[in-house]
Amino acid sequence: MNPSVTIVIPVYNEEANLRPLFSRLAATMDAQAHTWEVVFTDDGSRDGSMDILRALYAERPDVVRVIEFERNAGQHMAIMAAFENARGETVVTIDADLQNPPEEIPKLLAAIDRGHDVVGSIRRNRQDVGWRVYASRLMNLVRERITGIRMTDQGCMLRAYRRGVVQQIVATGEQTTFIPALGQYFAANPAEVEVEHAARAAGESKYNLYRLVRLNFDLMTGFSLVPLQLFTIVGMAITGLSLLLVVYMLARRVIIGPEAEGLFTLFAILYFLVGVVITGLGLVGEYVGRIYQEVRRRPRFRIRSVLEKQE
Ligand code: UDP
Ligand code: MG
Repeated sequence: MNPSVTIVIPVYNEEANLRPLFSRLAATMDAQAHTWEVVFTDDGSRDGSMDILRALYAERPDVVRVIEFERNAGQHMAIMAAFENARGETVVTIDADLQNPPEEIPKLLAAIDRGHDVVGSIRRNRQDVGWRVYASRLMNLVRERITGIRMTDQGCMLRAYRRGVVQQIVATGEQTTFIPALGQYFAANPAEVEVEHAARAAGESKYNLYRLVRLNFDLMTGFSLVPLQLFTIVGMAITGLSLLLVVYMLARRVIIGPEAEGLFTLFAILYFLVGVVITGLGLVGEYVGRIYQEVRRRPRFRIRSVLEKQE
């Protein structure tokens, strides 16, 4: 019999968090009327995470399933793999580091029971380092503007999806994607609830600035062509302005005669324009690179082993 709820947890070097996470999760879910299972994806951890997951499976094979990746494929691919294998009518995603308290899951399930097909969440008193809170506020604003996807807090992974939405997400087969945005994209009747947020219980964030930038590019390029269109518009505006400048300089040549001043102004303008051009090239590259990745059709992730009790 399929469980009614599947909890999906991506795991990358989280050895110190897995036991406390699982005991809090099991306490919460065992107290619920819903039957449940948890699917952990070990995303190529290099610490003892996989050993702990094996032990958890040995202890509770009735509820624990584990997917082990060959190598690190990223949080969103780890969730994708678990989505492909989830059996529940409702699927809940949650981080492994206890930043999202498992005790909040019933709140999401209640919203699903009220008829919503995607339930997002908003972190109350977000507990992250200062610069990330501000950067993510900014990215939320930018995303809202350019992708038209409505979410208050894109970075909060404590979310619930009805099975139909999960199947549509899986069917996209996307390689570079952002799961909450896909969920919101397919949602017919989304809702949001406020949830508590805690500091990471142990270990450190798996996202450095570089990975965060990559992830946000996945989100922007995956859900909008506005960056490209903006670039065309900026290009046209600069062309128009330069034309005015040319006319002005020609007029000066005729009226005043030859001049050779303003060399550094010229350089300043030139450097600026070169910057604009390189940025534009890079931006086009962001799209082209992702198209290349998609058309090659290499597997998005490779599974080394699956631990689960046979039906
Ligand atoms: N994670 C993963 N693969 C990765 C990076 C992260 O499976 O390549 C998992 C990680 O173990 C955690 C969740 O994704 O369960 C969120 O990661 P983290 O807490 O480091 O992100 P942050 O909270 O700093 O945004
Ligand atoms: Mg975290």
